[in-house]
Amino acid sequence: MFRIGNGYDVHALAEGETLWLGGICIPHEKGTLAHSDGDVLIHAICDALLGALALGDIGQHFPDTDPAYRNIDSKILLKHCMKLVNQKGYDLVNIDSTICAQRPKLKDYLPEMRQTMAALLELPAENISVKATTTEKLGFVGREEGMEAHAVVLLQKR
Ligand code: MG
Repeated sequence: MFRIGNGYDVHALAEGETLWLGGICIPHEKGTLAHSDGDVLIHAICDALLGALALGDIGQHFPDTDPAYRNIDSKILLKHCMKLVNQKGYDLVNIDSTICAQRPKLKDYLPEMRQTMAALLELPAENISVKATTTEKLGFVGREEGMEAHAVVLLQKR
């Protein structure tokens, strides 16, 4: 009746790039380097949805060698993954996720990320959890060389 899925993503940061997280654009002097818009949170959630269905990963569904996905809005990818969930006869129960970023402070942006994804997934925002943490200046996240995101989803058979 239930299936769980786990997702993880990383993108490098570079100056002059745009920072998209959870479907919204966040003002910062660095953004993610990626073939798509580089939204690590949405990519982790897509991978969790695909993982719950054992349908492979985001790289298989949206290859970064395909020009069709160049700078694509990750919200389109999320919508596609959600369609696959429904086609397989499942509903999304809830999402829990964590963004790891040293800077900027993300706390004030989390409600808008949740609202944006809730609207996209047709789910109440209370069923979508987005958390943010620094890594205490440790590792590539702490050195502000990149950002990562982790996500877990629960699906229920209709
Ligand atoms: Mg990615």
